[in-house]
Amino acid sequence: MARLAQTAGLTDIQEEILATVRTFVDKEIIPHAQTLEHGDTYPADIVDGMKEMGLFGLTIPEEYGGLGESLLTYALVVEQIARGWMSVSGVINTHFIVAHMLKQHGTPEQKQKYLPRMAAGEVRGSFSMSEPELGSDVAAIRTRATKSDAGYTINGQKMWLTNGGTSNLTAVLVKTDEGAEKPHQNLTTFLVEKPEGYGEVVPGLTIPGKIDKMGYKGVDTTEMVFDGFEIAADQVLGGVTGQGFRHMMDGVEVGRVNVAARACGIAIRAFELAIDYSQQRRTFGKAIAEHQAIAFKLAEMATKVEAAHLMMVNAARLKDSGQRNDVEAGMAKLIASEYCAEVTQESFRIHGGYGYSKEYEIERLMREAPFLLIGEGTSEIQKTIISRGLLRDYQSRG
Ligand SMILES: Cc1cc2nc3c(=O)[nH]c(=O)nc-3n(C[C@H](O)[C@H](O)[C@H](O)COP(=O)(O)OP(=O)(O)OC[C@H]3O[C@@H](n4cnc5c(N)ncnc54)[C@H](O)[C@@H]3O)c2cc1C
Repeated sequence: MARLAQTAGLTDIQEEILATVRTFVDKEIIPHAQTLEHGDTYPADIVDGMKEMGLFGLTIPEEYGGLGESLLTYALVVEQIARGWMSVSGVINTHFIVAHMLKQHGTPEQKQKYLPRMAAGEVRGSFSMSEPELGSDVAAIRTRATKSDAGYTINGQKMWLTNGGTSNLTAVLVKTDEGAEKPHQNLTTFLVEKPEGYGEVVPGLTIPGKIDKMGYKGVDTTEMVFDGFEIAADQVLGGVTGQGFRHMMDGVEVGRVNVAARACGIAIRAFELAIDYSQQRRTFGKAIAEHQAIAFKLAEMATKVEAAHLMMVNAARLKDSGQRNDVEAGMAKLIASEYCAEVTQESFRIHGGYGYSKEYEIERLMREAPFLLIGEGTSEIQKTIISRGLLRDYQSRG
């Protein structure tokens, strides 16, 4: 029945994984999403189901107990999950980014220490770049690690950690004194272990509580305060300081494909709701889908869903082929998140007054879509990345 957002050339294993996830989403996520979201309730049963399916280890290599699947498989899984409820994709996204950073940049000891337990969902990852005074301008990070007898002491405040309270391993980007001229060369990623929960969870490290958000509920987003927090030197990702910016940018590059996939998922759901409602609701003696103004909206929405999906798939495949995908991931994230906001808005309009009622799913999607315009870099930042890449490749000979 589903004609939109199909992907050509998938392997049998990819098809099988997607079919399993699609069934899980239809049976275990969509029927519960409204109640859990309105109650701002953590989807514990759904998360357990994802653990059982092995989704926490989807991209972790088989030698560490994962399924060893590609970024494309992951992105298509995320698209399905976000179609059910975006917050559930938020639970695995930061975990996936941290696993990717460990896989690509961790020392052999760090990989052995964390990846098997991450694949099992016992260790759950979050990542932290943003601070109260900066998000886009990552190189301006102020939280600082200084050398101490134990290794390093960290002081400062981080902001907007998705899964900050429900993770037990956070990759944190902080300033170290490398003496490098460029600010981004003075940044280091630390692997901070902590128990789940809120308050002063270990000496010198406080997770103050959940930030009350407009949407994206159920999943926790928190601050993280370091006050004389001691950490061993072997918790530096990759074992070498001054490489943190590069590590994090690699992480958010795959994260951007994932945000694009989430936007595709929400847009698909908004379209599904609109095309269904528009055939049921009647005005002036016929279904509203028979009014050309509404039929044309559906046509435009479907075209946007399709275009965003294809660009997301393209960016994922490029990364899987071993090439850098900064421009393509930026383009996919830009178009998918902007189209998602537009498609969701159109679906809302098609629902008339009922779209404003909390009984209808579109009300939730309307509050979720705006986050995708911001997370993993705003649209303005994507345009900066895209134009920089293009100017690099199309240098004028004049
Ligand atoms: C729900 C939620 C979850 C999040 N989860 C995480 C997380 O897990 N980990 C994490 O590290 N961060 C997380 N973030 C933070 C997120 O990445 C930042 O909010 C985002 O990067 C934007 O940064 P900012 O909020 O500081 O906005 P600012 O950087 O202050 O930007 C404000 C405005 O100015 C524009 N702007 C900024 N610089 C430029 C420029 N050079 N040119 C043109 N326009 C510009 C921006 O596009 C934006 O419109 C999360 C945010 C939210 C809302």
